[in-house]
Amino acid sequence: MRKQFAVIALIALLQVVGAAQQPAPTPLRSSAGTAYVIRAGRLIDPETGTASANQMISVKDGRIVAIGANVATPEGAEIIDLSQYSVLPGLVDAHNHLALTYKKIPENNVYYYTYVQDSTALRAIQAASNGMQMLSAGFTVVRDLGNNGMYADTALRVAVEQGWLPGPTIINSGIIIGGMGGQFYPTPEMVKEHNIVYPEYLDADTSDEIIKAVRQNVLFGAKVIKICVDCKPYPYSVDDMKLFVKEAANAGGLKVAGHVQTQEGARRAIEAGIWSIEHDIALTDEIHKLMAKKGIWRVGTETPFTEYRGSQAAFDRTVAGMKSAYANGVKMAFSTDADYYVEGMTRGQVVINFLKSWKAAAIPDKEILKIMTVNGYKVADIYDKRGPIKPGLPADIIAVKGNPLEDIDALRTVVFVMKDGLVFKRDGVMVPEKFFHGGPINGWNIR
Ligand SMILES: [Zn+2]
Repeated sequence: MRKQFAVIALIALLQVVGAAQQPAPTPLRSSAGTAYVIRAGRLIDPETGTASANQMISVKDGRIVAIGANVATPEGAEIIDLSQYSVLPGLVDAHNHLALTYKKIPENNVYYYTYVQDSTALRAIQAASNGMQMLSAGFTVVRDLGNNGMYADTALRVAVEQGWLPGPTIINSGIIIGGMGGQFYPTPEMVKEHNIVYPEYLDADTSDEIIKAVRQNVLFGAKVIKICVDCKPYPYSVDDMKLFVKEAANAGGLKVAGHVQTQEGARRAIEAGIWSIEHDIALTDEIHKLMAKKGIWRVGTETPFTEYRGSQAAFDRTVAGMKSAYANGVKMAFSTDADYYVEGMTRGQVVINFLKSWKAAAIPDKEILKIMTVNGYKVADIYDKRGPIKPGLPADIIAVKGNPLEDIDALRTVVFVMKDGLVFKRDGVMVPEKFFHGGPINGWNIR
């Protein structure tokens, strides 16, 4: 009898799981019962680089219902007048670290010391704040690639998805996996006792350890696997990385993102069929050609030269690299590696200032916008589930002054943000009240 009950329960559960994968899933409870009609002065389609004047978007229960010059108004819908603005889908930062913020004072921007000073709990709260700062700047999706203590990134993703607080959709990596030491040089005492700067990196030096490390991250909520390809004099081999790719695919079809800093590392990663190469340090014209041929994402994290960061020489190299990648038809993503505090700026303002690099590379504004939206959804591997303004998809919609197709700097003035069909920012002011709940309104079992 009990066995029979278990079988029935299992079938019911499988049906629920199956239903969740259908294109028309159940609405989030946090947005249930809400309805809006957005009047867009100019509705932008970043995919085609075109705009349509005076469009309407109806949104119900968190999802886009219809788009057109005239759409039916759902019952009880509130009208949102954005007729003076450009309306477009949300932006994506494909490489950020929301739960890491190193500072000039007290650690002189040496992030090794940040780990010693800031607990995972504090960093999770920093991540919640940084996430809202990103959302306010129009970033509705953030790929968060590690350096988040003991899974502060998962904590933020789960908190947002369960409905505790507002934030971007998080595609998080959990702990970065690397050969012994990761990007750090821990002392023998730290390694022996496995303390102080652990668990910032997850050591995996053998095939067994690689499989185990991937599974540990998946168990603790990773949605992408991040590895250190060549942070040490003992880089991963092609076979090591093929094993990562295979094991990540086995674990729910996850993709592998590789931090790469040498040309040999890049060549091996490309041969192994990695999903994305993070950082542009090692990417030459020749390597760009190999990446284009294999369709590997370039998540370049191209830091602009500003009064608070970088140098002219480094920036010139960065811009030359972007030009080479663009000319070679490499798939490019907007990414920042933002993990530091600049006095007087929010995390979102630090991130949007990376437009300087894209403009310096003379990439057309329309292309930059496509890279920051469509390419972002693709590198985050969510393109068919979230991002585009399309009926059936979650309503993640922003509005800016001016026309970003002609002047990409228009993205610096985000006046309106809707996330999952709820208004987060209006008339340039954050109004997040509807996002806060005293419990996991969307389900305690979201992991
Ligand atoms: Zn990074």
